Amino acid sequence: MTSLRISLALVVAVTIARVAGGIVSGSLALLADAGYGLTLGVALAPALLAAGSDAPAGAVRRTFGYQRADIVASLANALVLWAVAAWILLEAWGRFGEVSDVDGGLLLGVAVIGLAVHFIIMLMLRQPAQKHGGAAHAREQTLPSVMGPAAAVLAGLTIQMFGWQAADLAGAALIAVLALVNTWRLLAHVVHVLRGGTPEHIDVDRLCRRIEDLPGVTLMHDVHVWTQTPGSDALAAHVLVDPERRAEMDSLLDRIRTIAREEFNIRHVTVQLETTAVNWKEDPRVAARLGRRR
Ligand SMILES: [Zn+2]
Repeated sequence: MTSLRISLALVVAVTIARVAGGIVSGSLALLADAGYGLTLGVALAPALLAAGSDAPAGAVRRTFGYQRADIVASLANALVLWAVAAWILLEAWGRFGEVSDVDGGLLLGVAVIGLAVHFIIMLMLRQPAQKHGGAAHAREQTLPSVMGPAAAVLAGLTIQMFGWQAADLAGAALIAVLALVNTWRLLAHVVHVLRGGTPEHIDVDRLCRRIEDLPGVTLMHDVHVWTQTPGSDALAAHVLVDPERRAEMDSLLDRIRTIAREEFNIRHVTVQLETTAVNWKEDPRVAARLGRRR
């Protein structure tokens, strides 16, 4: 929590330093670096929000609390990165071939400070005290976030050592491309989560087979597995139980919960046990299952 706050303050401070440094030194790489680094702040802020709002989950208006603030922020993060990358590439194209006089020393100085700050944040968020899912997610953002600042440092070094001014534009373009690559992965993941896609690490078919193999279970249908927030998955399903084993339903439910939690690390389980199923014949999973059994 505290390290999240400090990280966010550091990101804001170093972003201001980069923008100022970029304008004064005439370096596009530093401006690109500022935009690139800012997205780390966008990743950190909601983690802070989610960590700060201690579980109003269950409240009537927001039954998920702020759990999903994370994923919405990741979407914003991706969009910001895209806008920044597009602007940088256009600007680099515009400046290409122009005579430039970038202050390599200033560029290098600010870039090195920025890189150092990103390393500090990476180390701080690595501390085991940060168990919160949001922090874990923000931490995932920090490794790629070091690559941008490193490119800026490289541009500064090249200008200082060889006087090659175009290194600034090359550095800026490299940072923009890095942003695009990172964004692509991030965006694909965010869209998958927002669509309620099955978490990549969960084999739903195996989960269903494990539960259907329990004595008394006829079949499972209306199965949904999704990610609530990175690090917290949920399962909702109907489980059809042999009417003659109605008395064992409580212990059955216990076993289903245990399988979901311990074998599949699913934290939030909602299971409807039933002895008759209405309108389930259209469920493709049920059709396949019945086909397999008969
Ligand atoms: Zn049902």
